[in-house]
Amino acid sequence: MSEQAMNQIQAYRQAAEAKNGLLPCPFCGGGAELGDGRFHDWKVNCEKCWAEITHVDHDTVIKLWNTRTPAIPALCEALEYALRFKGTLCDIQPEIDKILEAG
Ligand SMILES: [Zn+2]
Repeated sequence: MSEQAMNQIQAYRQAAEAKNGLLPCPFCGGGAELGDGRFHDWKVNCEKCWAEITHVDHDTVIKLWNTRTPAIPALCEALEYALRFKGTLCDIQPEIDKILEAG
């Protein structure tokens, strides 16, 4: 895992500690807050974009919210590598075509 991804995960951990265990919003990185839902349930919502999740169980709603986030750094890193690899392929494609044309 790259140093950048490790730093991002560390930043998420620190943000979660500051928010009583709630990780930042998986969509925008905004702070999360825990509160009462509309139907005698629990709600975690983003303070910035208002993404939310609800569940009847307090611990479960926190777990559901938090398990969305860790995939983001890994996904970003995977996309970064995929794009870099695609760029490399595009750069050498003319050379490949020449070789194929020459037989
Ligand atoms: Zn958000």
